[in-house]
Amino acid sequence: MDSVSRASQGVELRGVEKRYGEVVAVRALDLEVRPGELMVLVGPSGCGKSTLLRLIAGLVEPTAGEVWIGGRRVDDVEPGARDVAMVFQSYALYPHMTVAGNLGFGLRVRGTPRIEIERRVTEAAEVLGLGELLSRRPGELSGGQRQRVALGRAMVRDPGVFLFDEPLSNLDAELRLRTRDEIAALHRRLGTTMIFVTHDQVEALSLGQRVAVMDRGRLQQVGTPEEVYRRPANLFVASFVGSPPINRIRLSRDEPGHLAGGPFALHAPSGVDRATLGVRPEDLVVAAGGDRDSMEAGTFHATVLRVEALGSEQRVHLDGPGDAAWVARASPALRVVRGDRVGVSVAWERSHLFGPDGRREEAVPRPMPHPGSR
Ligand code: ADP
Repeated sequence: MDSVSRASQGVELRGVEKRYGEVVAVRALDLEVRPGELMVLVGPSGCGKSTLLRLIAGLVEPTAGEVWIGGRRVDDVEPGARDVAMVFQSYALYPHMTVAGNLGFGLRVRGTPRIEIERRVTEAAEVLGLGELLSRRPGELSGGQRQRVALGRAMVRDPGVFLFDEPLSNLDAELRLRTRDEIAALHRRLGTTMIFVTHDQVEALSLGQRVAVMDRGRLQQVGTPEEVYRRPANLFVASFVGSPPINRIRLSRDEPGHLAGGPFALHAPSGVDRATLGVRPEDLVVAAGGDRDSMEAGTFHATVLRVEALGSEQRVHLDGPGDAAWVARASPALRVVRGDRVGVSVAWERSHLFGPDGRREEAVPRPMPHPGSR
């Protein structure tokens, strides 16, 4: 589809800040989105991701900092002249216009010649599988088809950057998955830069080539889905990304060189006297029986609170090791039931330590030999 795609643009934010009175929606934020990249901005509601997208679109003016698109500073450039097209959550199609009318509307407003409008509308409709529906009105379309029209409306503008503001959140679960795949396919086909906002971490990891995680107006980490999941930069990212969430326990120094908490005693990295240990549910191995005498360093005993059988896996809820319940992912073959006493070992090389400020400690947690059975 070379005729649809054009040079895609990189986007760069330099020290961008947005305040609404007392509220700081976005704080001193630097971010570079490469030309042709599919970047997902993700974070909990209110973290500033929509504001960030609007700053790029030009719908919101930064309080400080610079916005660059395609190597051009655009702070003073009108939204319509920024070479971006935005797809919103509420697709707001014109109900009295046909699909073709909706697709071409933006171009007509700009005074694009009719023949050119027709060509682009036909192309977009073909790419999005809307060819048969061009003469229908939005009321005669399914939710997914309407969402595709909204996408097509952005596509016909042939922008250097697509901006998506939670475009899937109005769709039901199945359609959400399908539309997500369609957007990924569209990205592969067009090769245009896309910046996609969502609060759903699963959506972010499955769609993004890179993911930018935000919390309270700050960028927490930018990386591939793998990096963000495997090497979370801080406790916030570790806890936000992953489902069920990462298991945590607080540790503090009990004697020089030790960090202890619950059943764990770890070698303390130098200078660390308080930390949080994070272990993903798949990095716990549950063994039925829990034989006390054969416990290796860093393993612990727990009682099974609940077992969720999910078909392809089981989730085993445990009464600890700290105050809070932990969850382990286990194979469906494991035979445990509520009330069982089990032995649990930890994949230490894939576990994480976070310092008192929440930042990741580079050192891999290392257990000390068991002082005695607990
Ligand atoms: P998200 O998209 O991550 O849910 P937003 O970017 O919409 O977050 O909002 C970030 C913060 O900025 C929130 O605290 C929100 O209440 C505030 N905010 C956003 N827009 C405005 C506005 N127009 N006026 C005042 N506060 C706003």
